[in-house]
Amino acid sequence: MNEKVRCLIIGSGPAGFTAAIYASRANLAPVLYEGIQPGGQLTTTTDIENFPGYPEGISGTEMMEDLKKQATRFGADIRAGIATSADLTATPKKIVIDGEKTIEADAVIIATGATAKYLGMPDETKYAGMGVSACATCDGFFYRKKVVAVVGGGDTACEEATYLSGLADKVYMIVRKPQLRASKVMQKRVLNNPKIEMLFETNTLGLFGDNGVEGAHLVKRMGEKDEEKFDIAIDGFFLAIGHKPNTDIFKGQIDLDDSGYIKTMPGTPKTNIRGVFAAGDVADSVYRQAITAAGTGCQAALESERYLVELAEAECELSK
Ligand code: NDP
Repeated sequence: MNEKVRCLIIGSGPAGFTAAIYASRANLAPVLYEGIQPGGQLTTTTDIENFPGYPEGISGTEMMEDLKKQATRFGADIRAGIATSADLTATPKKIVIDGEKTIEADAVIIATGATAKYLGMPDETKYAGMGVSACATCDGFFYRKKVVAVVGGGDTACEEATYLSGLADKVYMIVRKPQLRASKVMQKRVLNNPKIEMLFETNTLGLFGDNGVEGAHLVKRMGEKDEEKFDIAIDGFFLAIGHKPNTDIFKGQIDLDDSGYIKTMPGTPKTNIRGVFAAGDVADSVYRQAITAAGTGCQAALESERYLVELAEAECELSK
């Protein structure tokens, strides 16, 4: 089952939806597949307070619903479905959706985002859905008046710990370095929160519990002379240690950096393949903000438009 489109957008975060708004307003009749997490990572975040234009902040889910409505209003065809394989070197490019339907596209905008990382302990799998989570806003509700731990020292970890402190009785932050990496404002928020206890220079060795997570085995100053192993009693264990770009299906076809992020030409969403553009977190290991994702989504749509005009001109020349 094949379908030909001019502009295919893969992913439904701020980058994908912004690309869809611009591409539909430019009459590119874009088709957007929402992917595994419709609305992207922002649907799992708390209030967004730093997106310009929302003086009181807005919830991630609400913002993504608004972006979707805006794209639909201009005619973007937004569909449920996951891109399961791709041939970006073909002309037109071929993307398989849900393992069965092939979309042939002249221009492709990859906006597949990034996914939360885990520590890699077998216990994370053992207790998946039974106390282990990488999304406080999705699962925090289950931990009202309980004790939880958040792993990580970046902005995400601080945000998750702050959010959880509004629900749980106590929140541990397990930070492997002697200091936080998060921005000063976020650091202040957790360090001044009486419900949050910081465990600096601490790593997690494992989890325990008969019916779901009941505690974590930790180690302070791992590998040092004064290394100290200890346990904490917790009901929930939240990972907030960064993200992995969702580029597995493009490996070997498109230039990626060492961490798997799509390489783009500086200041543009252009990849090494003509007609393939990357927008948002899938190509951004540095800024990773909703506003930067939206900005690159806009750029990707504008570049797609230019590319499609060039393609039409070249085809016109050939047919003469
Ligand atoms: P970061 O990469 O900034 O931080 C990851 C944290 O996890 C670091 O403290 C890191 O430790 C720790 N970590 C990584 N691997 C391990 C491991 N194996 N074991 C233990 N700890 C580990 O990721 P974030 O997701 O926090 O943030 C990503 C980007 O998004 C940042 O640019 C951030 O500013 C931004 N952001 C902004 C927000 C906002 O403005 N509201 C909210 C959330 C994120 P170490 O420091 O030792 O490397």
